[in-house]
Amino acid sequence: MKNIALQAYTDNSCKQLLEFTKLMEVSSVVLFSCIIDYECELNYITENVSQFGYSKEDFLSHKIHYKSIIHDADIDFFLKSLEDSLRSSKRKFSLLHRIITADGTIRWLDVKFLVERDEWESARSLYGTINDITDIVEKENKVKLLAQALEQSDSLVFITDGNGIISYVNDSVIQNSGYSREELIGSKTSIFKSGKHNKEFYRNLWHTILSGQNYNNIIINKKKNGELYYVDTSITPIEDAYTKSKNFVVSAKDVTIQMQLEKKLENLATTDSLTQIYNRYKINAEIELHIARSKRSNTPFSLLMFDIDHFKNINDTYGHYVGDVVLKDLTQLIKKSIRQVDSFGRWGGEEFMLILDGTNKEEALNVAQKIRALVEKTAMSGHYNITVSIGVVQYIVPEQKSALLERVDQALYEAKEGGRNQVAYR
Ligand code: GH3
Ligand code: MG
Ligand code: MG
Repeated sequence: MKNIALQAYTDNSCKQLLEFTKLMEVSSVVLFSCIIDYECELNYITENVSQFGYSKEDFLSHKIHYKSIIHDADIDFFLKSLEDSLRSSKRKFSLLHRIITADGTIRWLDVKFLVERDEWESARSLYGTINDITDIVEKENKVKLLAQALEQSDSLVFITDGNGIISYVNDSVIQNSGYSREELIGSKTSIFKSGKHNKEFYRNLWHTILSGQNYNNIIINKKKNGELYYVDTSITPIEDAYTKSKNFVVSAKDVTIQMQLEKKLENLATTDSLTQIYNRYKINAEIELHIARSKRSNTPFSLLMFDIDHFKNINDTYGHYVGDVVLKDLTQLIKKSIRQVDSFGRWGGEEFMLILDGTNKEEALNVAQKIRALVEKTAMSGHYNITVSIGVVQYIVPEQKSALLERVDQALYEAKEGGRNQVAYR
């Protein structure tokens, strides 16, 4: 009876061992053991050690010693750690190191050890597993490298979830915005809102990225100290492969200096340097815009051209400098009496153009009379009395710009011919 039980037990153990051996054939984990004597030679290692190009026999016959295949850069650390762990009372420890395979490639191995100790705590045997984790280490290194590149990038980079909650910011964002990492992580991107864009702007941004498309635009943001800045922004939607949740990677460059420069250049190109109102180039462009708009929506607009009467006398009597002052004062006087929507510019010399938005002939004539009377009664710089002659026209669709300019010039000529300090209509 006892023998039958023993037989059954032995049969069962053999079966388990067989199953275990079969399992080992499909596993890439190498098992080993060694007796701890002076050299710590391997006395058991599974066949699958061949994945590194060496045979089981190479090790068991001691033709190759394990430490001879360890990477030069790791050997000292490996031997020292092994020795320290064996000397301690540890039962388990692991060592991550590189080896050189038979074909010369480098692999990262995670070796886990189990120490068998005698009654005096001296290590007697070692059992262990060898796991090739090269792929994991390489992926980790790649991620570390990418993270480092992001951290050190000049670009402002941050990541948000689908609701715009910030989950990552790089150092540039912190330096640029003035907020700390703690203040930004968990906050909504609206923390950067400048109030310079309308609801439609942000609706369009969200619509684009939520539909999976990239968004590129120059956005005005606000720093913690209230300062506004322009960022050339690119937002890329990224879907998490596992959770299917949406994230947005925002990469932006501070282009405030370029934008300010561009604005300055545009101002220089469109502003008259003496009077600081539109120059001839800009007024021409404005007339074209108004013509296009009138053609589209049939809204009227009128054009006033005026010229200082006998301005030569001012220069001749008081000098060119006073002439300049008069031109500047006249500009300020007119600017104060027109609406925001009107466009006012210096056409050249002592000639000016005023575009009256949405204004018909009758209203334009009224405005012209008011300006004429205002100039007549106002002494420039408190001393110099001048008058102006004004030509008035209303734009008629589909008139060309050249014909419109000819008409207004003709109207001005008639005002002059009529005795100056006059308004004439054509
Ligand atoms: P009219 O009533 O026919 O318009 O006579 P006017 O003297 O105003 O016209 P004219 O065209 O004979 O002379 C215009 C003068 O405007 C001559 C020119 O020296 C002066 N002028 C043009 N641009 C400037 C400027 O930028 N500064 C000064 N001070 N004078 C200017
Ligand atoms: Mg004149
Ligand atoms: Mg003139």
